[in-house]
Amino acid sequence: MILRKKFIAGNWKMNKTPADGAALVSEIVTEIGRQTDVDVLVCPPFTALESAGRNLEGSNVKLGAQNMHFELNGAFTGEVSAPMLRDLFVTHVILGHSERRALFGETDAMINQKVLTAIKNQLRPILCVGETLSEREAGDTLKVVQTQVEAGLEGVGKDQAPSVIIAYEPVWAIGTGKVATSDQAQEVHAFIRGLLTKLFGETIAQKVRILYGGSMKPSNAPELLAQKDIDGGLIGGASLESRSFVDLVKAAADAK
Ligand code: PEP
Repeated sequence: MILRKKFIAGNWKMNKTPADGAALVSEIVTEIGRQTDVDVLVCPPFTALESAGRNLEGSNVKLGAQNMHFELNGAFTGEVSAPMLRDLFVTHVILGHSERRALFGETDAMINQKVLTAIKNQLRPILCVGETLSEREAGDTLKVVQTQVEAGLEGVGKDQAPSVIIAYEPVWAIGTGKVATSDQAQEVHAFIRGLLTKLFGETIAQKVRILYGGSMKPSNAPELLAQKDIDGGLIGGASLESRSFVDLVKAAADAK
């Protein structure tokens, strides 16, 4: 049996100035900067990457971005590229978050280009997938997730697949306080593991971490993280304050 190390990632979204971000990272590093049981990632907005990165230097907390363009440079006003992120010691990048899909028109094809660019540039993509409430109510959850996973990973080779992280985030649970039940989440995580098995084979599929995202907090994390195919969390609201974020990392350590 392959043991996947649990992974807790904080998505700060459009919150925290460079000074606020640096302060939050310092608090996190003081509490859990040395632990090695759980992989921990913070994803500040672009403007706070540098200050946050400085304060996590020397710790085991890693730095992620929330988005990037698929081209490496050029006339793309307002965008940021993989080499720019690498230069700030970013190691991971969230791609295809439902807010990017819904509010900024990102398609599966664009997200796929970003995934491929990230991998080519030694950035680990966190590919977000998930259904809306109306899609769930129509019984389309697995079909939607299948399309997003398969399209997002098109062209990813077997040798590259273990660097990918998938985040299952039911859109109706993001920022709403409505968390998926552990059974609902496990059903979709197991389904995604099955898709990965078809795409890359059993051994590789068993290595890929699949995170749950959607109103995860210290009170509901233990039950979610105890599920066989839930390998961690992508955390929005509860990552903006060190106490709750640190408690989530501790919950993941206890669940291993
Ligand atoms: C997210 O946006 O990735 C997320 C999971 O947000 P929240 O934890 O606030 O629901």
